[in-house]
Amino acid sequence: MSETFYVEKREQLKEKPDFQNLVFGEIFTDYMLSMSYKQGEGWSEPKIIPYGPITLSPSAQGLHYGQTVFEGMKAYKDGDDVALFRPDQNFKRINLSLKRLEMPQIDEEKVLDGLLQLIDLEREWIPSGEGQSLYVRPFVYATEPYLGVRSSTDYEFLVILSPVGAYYGDEQMKPTSIYVEDEFVRAVRGGVGFAKCGGNYAASLIAQTRANELGFDQVLWLDGVEQKYIEEVGSMNIFFVIDGKVVTPELNGSILPGITRKTVLELAQEMGYETEEKRLSIDDIINAHHDGRLTEIFGTGTAAVISPVGFLKYEEAEITINNNEIGPITQALFDEYTAIQTGKKEDKNGWRV
Ligand code: PMP
Repeated sequence: MSETFYVEKREQLKEKPDFQNLVFGEIFTDYMLSMSYKQGEGWSEPKIIPYGPITLSPSAQGLHYGQTVFEGMKAYKDGDDVALFRPDQNFKRINLSLKRLEMPQIDEEKVLDGLLQLIDLEREWIPSGEGQSLYVRPFVYATEPYLGVRSSTDYEFLVILSPVGAYYGDEQMKPTSIYVEDEFVRAVRGGVGFAKCGGNYAASLIAQTRANELGFDQVLWLDGVEQKYIEEVGSMNIFFVIDGKVVTPELNGSILPGITRKTVLELAQEMGYETEEKRLSIDDIINAHHDGRLTEIFGTGTAAVISPVGFLKYEEAEITINNNEIGPITQALFDEYTAIQTGKKEDKNGWRV
């Protein structure tokens, strides 16, 4: 660590929750990392301050025109050590999102340094049970009090931390059912699909609710132009095993470039699987299933790491994948990924920080 950032101590620390009964995103630690931006001055030095309500003008631009971006990653406890998984990739991606929304770039190294100091201070908040972790949420929002539509002059960057339980609880990974959304789209060509901005998630809620009401777990998003090509599943990237090959849609500007996606592609190659990134239509997938060539489907993302798909509905077609059971490649990738992530297996690529 290069420099030690200022810490504003809180008078009283919060009581720690019962780590055995954590619900995602409900509990937050004692401190957060904070940094402010002013046009002409740039970003302030990061500092660690008590977690608590923020003051914001009712005319703050971020509230009205949606200049807000965020990231998500996890810190794992490994004995006395704490490790983040490829955090450099998250800060690289937040800068991509910031650029697309015409918001100021952050210093990736400095912010990572600040995050490491924050996590060090909050060690006691990191649950150490199987699959448990500390969820890290960096975000930036526009604060200038002004109602004209243009990019804001002022911003705030914060990182908040939340202890979370294992995604699958005490159970094994469970195959999910997906509904191929053929009315609403998540992103369009030339839009903001590749950016992790708040508006993308607001726009996705209506379809997710409908899929749930129809009895499905997740939405599969098709492209926003022809509604023919596969993009993502819920807030995960999607993979298929076709003819034994690990295939995922190529990044096209409307798909979020997932860090789990990138890592799964790299790991699959190391494990000797053939991989391919290409444009995949929903018809290709249904046909591959009918021909017996599609054997597995899974989603990838920070939250679940890998989430198998057991059932898919598109218009009149309903297909069951691998008897609604976890496929062998899905399981092998999950085991390898989580073993490296949690320090049980050698990290040859230096992904753990
Ligand atoms: N797509 C979307 C829309 C997401 O929100 C996420 C979660 N960040 C992902 C894919 C997966 O990305 P990652 O592997 O970096 O978590």
